[in-house]
Amino acid sequence: MSLISAGYYLFLSEYFNLSGKKFLNEDVIKKVIVEDIKEIQEKKENITSPKIKKNIDTEKYVQKKIEILKGDTFVSILKNLNFKQKNIYEIISKIKNTFDLKKIKTGEIITVFENGFGEIKKIEFFKDTETIISVDLDKEINLNIRQLEKETFVESREYTIIDSLFSDGIKNGVSPDILVKIIRLFSFDLDFQRDIRVDTVVSVSYEYDMISETNKLEFKDIKYASIKIDGKQIEYFKFITDDGYVDYFNREGKNVKKSILKTPLDGARISSNYGMRKHPISGFNKMHKGVDFAAPTGTPIYAGGNGVIEYIGRNGGYGKYIRIRHNNEYKTAYAHLSNYKKGISKGVRVNQGDIIGYVGNTGNSTGPHLHYEIIYQNKHINPLKLKLASGKVLKGNELSKFIEEYKVIYADHLNLLYE
Ligand SMILES: [Zn+2]
Repeated sequence: MSLISAGYYLFLSEYFNLSGKKFLNEDVIKKVIVEDIKEIQEKKENITSPKIKKNIDTEKYVQKKIEILKGDTFVSILKNLNFKQKNIYEIISKIKNTFDLKKIKTGEIITVFENGFGEIKKIEFFKDTETIISVDLDKEINLNIRQLEKETFVESREYTIIDSLFSDGIKNGVSPDILVKIIRLFSFDLDFQRDIRVDTVVSVSYEYDMISETNKLEFKDIKYASIKIDGKQIEYFKFITDDGYVDYFNREGKNVKKSILKTPLDGARISSNYGMRKHPISGFNKMHKGVDFAAPTGTPIYAGGNGVIEYIGRNGGYGKYIRIRHNNEYKTAYAHLSNYKKGISKGVRVNQGDIIGYVGNTGNSTGPHLHYEIIYQNKHINPLKLKLASGKVLKGNELSKFIEEYKVIYADHLNLLYE
């Protein structure tokens, strides 16, 4: 619980950094988040006690749910269930080709199915939120992987701000995941402290997946969002550009003003600035071509902007290192990582805000931190002094395609709101 709330809190604190201004009283945010976390926690409890609909099994077997506690391993759980060493070995070796048993997490649930003689005939557990691994123990050990059914829905909401964008959003049933995305989307256009006033109208349409067996919701992209203040409206529509990025554009096909993130991680403190300094390891005076952010090992690092992974791997004193080439003469580099995000490799396309790796202490480093560089036209610049880059404007066929799509998105939005 505390982890989740800390996560949200830190995540939101990024928006203070982004705009350089606070837009909400921190206590208000904390309170809203704590209340909200309760709700998330309740939802999570539903997830961890899955209503597994079993056609035959429910009749034949008694289901027992085992929560994985701190210090438990798959082996220790099987031991507690009185499996013989030999069987444990067989079960484990069968599973480990499909699932890394180290990934089983505290708080997750393993379901065992017992027959009338108290013999366990089946073990089920989640591989991820969408997949169940089922181990049949009847005569021989058989592994089945079951994909949970997922349905995608589009939902629209509209509300008037009385207190704040975030807290009124929560009151109107908008998920915090979506609210955070709205704030991120408008953070270059609006100063949430000064510009938002009572009677500001927020209108939003977004997608979510629902996994029916577990009632779990996964919120996806915003399709449309609008903020109307004193009759002035800012609107954005989701569009996948020809070069494959998810981006947001207004009706004229101009996109969200988007800069490179100045702080590509949450809750970090600057531990060393850009400029000349005495190097902590070599002792020489040297140009420090980036900014250091002190943060605990394992803190997620975000892609500073849309781009393609140009380099990933060990890079001398930089340790584990990633460099992204962005589409507007910018590059960003991230050093001393502890690890790379799974799936991130050379040539992979990333969107701003995607997790690419984790803070660490590899290479010439005296403690866990992120060394962050922004390179513009092959010269290093001070990330903290970065100015806003101008946005992309759609033209020609891409613009025509966008206009067709936004009309559909908008019609759907109105339908959902007023049907
Ligand atoms: Zn550094």
